[in-house]
Amino acid sequence: MNDLHSFSWYAARIKKHLPPEAFKPVPVRLFGGFTYLVITLTCFLIIASNPLPTLIALVLSFMIGACFAGLGFLGHEILHGTVVRNALLRDILGAIAFWPLSTGPKLWRKWHNLNHHVHTQHDANDPDAWPTLERISRMNMFKWIYGLPLFIRSFFAFISLTVQFTAHSIKMFFTYVKEFAPKKQRDVFLQMILPWVTWISLIFVIGIRNWIFAYFIPLLIANFIVMAYISTNHRLNPLTPINDPLANSLTVTVPKIVDILHFNFSYHTEHHLFPGMNPKYYPLVKEHIKAMWPERYHEMPMTRALITLWHTPRVYHEQTNLIDPRTSETYGSLGNKLYPKSILPKKTTD
Ligand SMILES: [Zn+2]
Ligand SMILES: [Zn+2]
Repeated sequence: MNDLHSFSWYAARIKKHLPPEAFKPVPVRLFGGFTYLVITLTCFLIIASNPLPTLIALVLSFMIGACFAGLGFLGHEILHGTVVRNALLRDILGAIAFWPLSTGPKLWRKWHNLNHHVHTQHDANDPDAWPTLERISRMNMFKWIYGLPLFIRSFFAFISLTVQFTAHSIKMFFTYVKEFAPKKQRDVFLQMILPWVTWISLIFVIGIRNWIFAYFIPLLIANFIVMAYISTNHRLNPLTPINDPLANSLTVTVPKIVDILHFNFSYHTEHHLFPGMNPKYYPLVKEHIKAMWPERYHEMPMTRALITLWHTPRVYHEQTNLIDPRTSETYGSLGNKLYPKSILPKKTTD
């Protein structure tokens, strides 16, 4: 932790080994988004026009949920400017891609690009970082939760992955809306409310049962898919006073087909080094990182990362440790004696 470097320090050393086309926008990826839209609308029509057996409706729900998540990953790329350069087109396409998750492009860019990326794992400034022991001691409303045994907290934390993106997005709206200029606040509000109006209106068009299969269950599935990544991107890493992606980010590994469907979102350390890069080149960035700083780099299969998440508390203590407030047991974090090779992370004694 003494030897941290900013993302630009790493990026400057790797960039000279990368081809210039890695930094060109790739509009052809919109075909992927178009495919997700066509599948979604087709499933909507099938659900709305036939009384389907529950099992078949659930299969369609899963397909729609997977498309919602895929669109979310594409929206993330679009709003980093890696698909189209024109700002207006970028925001329109980003709004469409994030429509299922009801997150507006202006809010997303403020929350994700300008705060999460700039202040990653900073205990006060990263809107996605988990709290420290000091911070939760001031949260009277939530304190009782930390009195529950860890496995019960983990159980509910995993269930909550089905709503966490949506809930956090609403929280981010209230956190950041007041920071926009008054004229822009109206746009931010409209970009948040219009998707919700669409989804709630859909109940009256297709009926409540169909709506549950066409939107509600898919929304839970999409939340779970995107949160499976987001929850493992940084939550096993330490908080860092300097935004060092090799220390504060984790790249997870998933089957190749999943990487194709999710636009290489699994390469999260690489993404934090080059958020404006065509993700097709992340495997190349990974090769260079592993050649230059093999001892600093963290990667783990996603399933193992999720299992490790289950076994560790989500409260930070002294930046590099995780602590269970109920038992005061401390656990390491990635790079600080969290041993991902074992399923149960090794506990450390302070
Ligand atoms: Zn991140
Ligand atoms: Zn990003």
